[in-house]
Amino acid sequence: MENITVLGSTGSIGRSTLDVIRRNPDRFRVFALGAGGNADQMFSDVMEFKPDFAVLSDKSGAEKLRELLKAENSDTAVLSGYEQLSFIASHESCDSVMAAIVGAAGLVPALAAVKSGKKLYLANKESLVMTGHLFIEALRKSGSRILPVDSEHNAIFQSLPQTEQERLGFCHMKDAGVSRILLTGSGGPFRQLPLERMPFVTPEEAVAHPTWSMGSKISVDSSTMMNKGFEFIEAKWLFNLNNEDIQVVIHPQSVIHSMVQYVDGSVIAQLGNPDMRTPIARVMAYPDRVESGVGALDFCSLSGLSFFEPDYNRYPCLKLSIDACWSGQAATTALNAANEIAVSAFLNHSISYPRIYEICSKAVDRHCGDTISDVDSVLELDKKARETATALL
Ligand code: NDP
Repeated sequence: MENITVLGSTGSIGRSTLDVIRRNPDRFRVFALGAGGNADQMFSDVMEFKPDFAVLSDKSGAEKLRELLKAENSDTAVLSGYEQLSFIASHESCDSVMAAIVGAAGLVPALAAVKSGKKLYLANKESLVMTGHLFIEALRKSGSRILPVDSEHNAIFQSLPQTEQERLGFCHMKDAGVSRILLTGSGGPFRQLPLERMPFVTPEEAVAHPTWSMGSKISVDSSTMMNKGFEFIEAKWLFNLNNEDIQVVIHPQSVIHSMVQYVDGSVIAQLGNPDMRTPIARVMAYPDRVESGVGALDFCSLSGLSFFEPDYNRYPCLKLSIDACWSGQAATTALNAANEIAVSAFLNHSISYPRIYEICSKAVDRHCGDTISDVDSVLELDKKARETATALL
């Protein structure tokens, strides 16, 4: 029985994770749940999964949860405050951690899991965007294991030989005969929108992803393809790649979730319905396979698979993030921070859609020369870049 801590349990990935656990009660037990402030969702999950701990970083949310659980005589201990997320991620009774808190807030608890040697199921791509080399170094020191939840990285993982699957963070792609990684993306809801209509795009349109159902922040990131850029950076660190080893390909149907091209001309891909329970079940059961609740792909009903090169005029955020990846850790940390501020402002109807790129680009220019030496300096730069982006709003 694997005792698992689910961070971000009230969100989209968290809910899918709990569904995979629900379907496999003989393999997984929820040791702890952690989230931000959604006390009602947390309450119903605690009642169903009966974890040892439930953490809400928002103190008033935790207070409400405590009251609700007290009325039910629940044995679950309720903890409040951000630092308690690291406590449940590194607890000696926990075997593995699903890192699915959105944004920079996911970094510190994910690192706590790595440093204490837990098996880490990584959905929070922002952790690697912000701290790539520091994160991998922490992995090396602790001997902890990382498995990728993001569907593209999970597809790449599944398409690699076992030798490389066993050493994520330290892969030798050349030894494995890999010539290139083909990172696919749907192109989001605005793939065919006339460019002159971009300034009038609404948050409601941006979060309406054509193939995946996700949280609002990552949905906006998918529409700008900033998400693909973050995945580019994530792939570089997870699979120990150079930038020129990765090619982004637009594939609107999201049936192929990414591919690995080998020197002999073979291309190995992972296919499936666009449902995050598949990659979640893959990492949690690895090397076995378990029931995820996702139906089989019906090839006869597929109308066709198409592939395009991304147009950087349409997706300037993709180019910005690939350039930031070349530039270095300060640039990617600043980009992530500015993007969180800009996307949140866009979702609140405070800025227009094209300003997401403008704000991010200026923040990267301002901070790409900053120095990063450890996690504290990453967090300091994250704070400064947020201030810069907020001033630019
Ligand atoms: P959601 O917005 O659906 O959920 C976010 C979760 O994070 C919620 O549980 C929320 O808690 C929690 N959270 C937010 N801020 C804090 C905080 N300060 N402290 C503690 N918890 C916090 O996001 P998704 O599930 O869509 O995405 C989660 C992560 O997974 C992201 O990093 C995303 O990039 C990545 N990912 C998501 C995919 C998807 O299909 N959704 C695919 C691949 C990667 P609460 O609601 O209680 O406030």
